Amino acid sequence: MGWYICSRCYGYKNSDDGCIEDPEHPLGLICSDCAAEMSRRKKMKWTKTVPTEPGWYWAKYCYFLKTMRFVVYIDDSLNTHYPEGYNITLLIDEWAGPIPEPEETE
Ligand SMILES: [Zn+2]
Repeated sequence: MGWYICSRCYGYKNSDDGCIEDPEHPLGLICSDCAAEMSRRKKMKWTKTVPTEPGWYWAKYCYFLKTMRFVVYIDDSLNTHYPEGYNITLLIDEWAGPIPEPEETE
């Protein structure tokens, strides 16, 4: 196909980079970098489904009409460890994640 302008970053790209079609713009193409960024963000939507894989997650929980948001670690047996030693998996209303691990600085 050749060269195209990515409809997200407006970069001049070669279609050999594994671009995808833009779902929001007919005939638009999205470069592989922007596509990867989009799929990362997609995973960060709030959902009522309890995570099925271990990792760090955003958690939303309603406490006396006040919505609290925090980050919890969920382990292999789907238990949370927040606050230290308490499993509050069943109290959490909504989840978002997993949150990717930061990269080490060189
Ligand atoms: Zn792009």
